[in-house]
Amino acid sequence: MKKHFHIKVNGIVQGVGFRPFIYRLALENNIKGYVLNDTEGVTIEAEGEEEALEKFIKAIKKKSPPLAIVQEIKIEERKINHFKNFWIEKSKATDKKTTFIPPDTNICKDCLREFFDPKNRRYHYPFIVCTYCGPRFSIVKDIPYDRDNTAMAEFSMCPFCQKEYEDPLDRRFHTQPTACPVCGPHLFLYKNDKTLISEDIEEIVKKVYKYLKAGHIIAIKGVGGYHLACDATNEEAVLKLRERKRRPFKPFALMTGFIEKIEEFLSVSPKEREILLSKERPIVILKEKKSQVSKYVAPDLTYIGIMLPYTPFQYLLFSLDKDLILVMTSGNLSDEPICFRDEEAFERLGHIADYFVTYNREIVAHSDDSVIFVINEKSFFIRRSKGFVPTPILVKKKFPIHLFASGGDLKNAFAIAKDNVIILSQYLGDLESPITQKVYKDTVFHFLKIFDIHPEVFISDIHPNYFTTTLTDKLAEGKLRLKVQHHHAHIVAVMAEYEIDEPVIGLAFDGTGFGLDFKIWGSEFLIADRKNFKRVAHFSYFALPGGEKAIKEVWRIGLSLLYHAGIPIEYLPFKEKYPINIILQMLEKKLNCPEACSIGRIFDGVSALLGICEAITTEAEAAQKLEEIALKTENFYKIDIEFKENENEIIIPTEELIRKIIELKDKGVSSPEIALSFHWALIEVSLKVVGRLKEKYGIRKVVLNGGSFQNRILLKGLWGKLEKAGFKVFLPQKVPLNDGGIALGQIVIGREKLIKN
Ligand code: ZN
Ligand code: ZN
Ligand code: FE
Repeated sequence: MKKHFHIKVNGIVQGVGFRPFIYRLALENNIKGYVLNDTEGVTIEAEGEEEALEKFIKAIKKKSPPLAIVQEIKIEERKINHFKNFWIEKSKATDKKTTFIPPDTNICKDCLREFFDPKNRRYHYPFIVCTYCGPRFSIVKDIPYDRDNTAMAEFSMCPFCQKEYEDPLDRRFHTQPTACPVCGPHLFLYKNDKTLISEDIEEIVKKVYKYLKAGHIIAIKGVGGYHLACDATNEEAVLKLRERKRRPFKPFALMTGFIEKIEEFLSVSPKEREILLSKERPIVILKEKKSQVSKYVAPDLTYIGIMLPYTPFQYLLFSLDKDLILVMTSGNLSDEPICFRDEEAFERLGHIADYFVTYNREIVAHSDDSVIFVINEKSFFIRRSKGFVPTPILVKKKFPIHLFASGGDLKNAFAIAKDNVIILSQYLGDLESPITQKVYKDTVFHFLKIFDIHPEVFISDIHPNYFTTTLTDKLAEGKLRLKVQHHHAHIVAVMAEYEIDEPVIGLAFDGTGFGLDFKIWGSEFLIADRKNFKRVAHFSYFALPGGEKAIKEVWRIGLSLLYHAGIPIEYLPFKEKYPINIILQMLEKKLNCPEACSIGRIFDGVSALLGICEAITTEAEAAQKLEEIALKTENFYKIDIEFKENENEIIIPTEELIRKIIELKDKGVSSPEIALSFHWALIEVSLKVVGRLKEKYGIRKVVLNGGSFQNRILLKGLWGKLEKAGFKVFLPQKVPLNDGGIALGQIVIGREKLIKN
């Protein structure tokens, strides 16, 4: 029997080739009617035999285009209209805007084939795209997603591009950024004094290759901003980049043209290979197996971050030399945001780069490369940005009003929510400098605009001095306002991802999070649900002499740990260099000595006590170095720590841990062995505490989250031990383990606490 269905499809269904897909599907199934884009998604009027309609709807769900995410299909039966054929109707604007914008993705196979085909019109044209690939999020200014609302607005299509654009059966049908050498943007090569060297792609790519091989540093405008590139095998070039970027330790990411090349010098598991080759093209952190690049790429580290090309220009550059390995680091000065505006590029990067490869199309929304590492064939975000943002996180429990959660001040990403989606921003870095703060504010307003969000609930951390807290206060004026404890947010972020409703045992291990007692937390064992939490265990407090200063000069933490453990200060390495007595007096008198119990700070202190790191140049450097040393051995000594329990909570004595480490030192145990013993001490005592909490509360679900779990030994060790002991372990896979994920937790807690049913 013939029927007429009115079908509404929501999700990422615009600008991803959804209508031509529906058009082809309709022809295949002999469906009559039409399809159109509106601001809510895609609407289809479909008439046909009942069986054919069923097949048609099934295929919509199952066979949708690569960039599409079908979130919801609503079907209503309507009166038969007797349509004669199937067509694509002009877009309709309704007042409700709920469509989503796809992320920026790697150039697809078909485009790549055309790009390297000398007979193709787009041969070596660096802005080749189609419906299935290329930039999206980075060029969208407003919705609906039409060319006029993107950075492509100023380029009018030539007749050839126009013809493809209008042909429903063409791969570029309604591809908003479509372009060709005749009508689209172009590349330019400049010297850093703004002298134009070339506008010819063949000349540019050859020159760039030559400059790189000669040891120069090149700023290359990519998808989400500028990269700084240099030859990764050239010691002098890499060192020069370190000096100019003022970045002594933090590892540089690499790019090379082929997966085979990566496998030559880094070890790649099947999962890592899959991620490297994925359309999101993130940086994947891999273990070095053969030294092929300069030691300055990742000083003293055995893990290196690497990615494969994703822009046409990158493919072209690497096609010249299959052995080429480049440093491809974000174009910025140490902690500043990635540079993405052309006016700024020469100003901010002119003293770092010798040459600039740029193009005449604006980057509207910036993003850094995403960073992922893999353990037990599961992937974890260190940074969730290009390729993943703004893909929504879908949840079952709807948000009846719009929400905004500002995240934290470190490794920031904020979140917005409406209906049944949560959208996290790209990585926005540490919000310390005015320039980062401005970028943060601009990005918040940009997101509210392009997703048509009008928040009625504003959520932030409880930290009184966070920039994000103060800003949220201002934004919230007169609206609902909530402050969420940092570690509760960490745990609920994971609960949101797995849609867990019942209480869990949550372990939030990190560097810093403001506690309800005004102290610095970060070794938290919580019994948490999506609304409330109870702090049931933590490591004992120790002082951070000088506060923020101690976080940078970690020898101060080493000294404080000795002091609290009642161990003579003679055990502190490099003590001759520092004003030990002044610090001791501060500790005695509790002067400017905020208290902390965080795992991150314990790592810092132990790193100092073992003489591995005395002061840091980048966040978590001391902890990373301690892990690196521990990876050098497989031998360790069992350190047993007795926890203390009272009615309300369990205290794990930090001083006992320190005493036992010093005992090992006294016995002449090597630093790698002590470092590994320390890791295992944390794992064993955590396991013991979780076991006790299970007895007490009868909970078997355990959530692990927080920046300290970026430590592979700790994550892998504790995860394995807990599973072996019969616990069900949940880890964040959609958002970062670090503070880049807390906005997700904040927004879900906000929903639970402030919105009824
Ligand atoms: Zn393509
Ligand atoms: Zn054209
Ligand atoms: Fe944290």
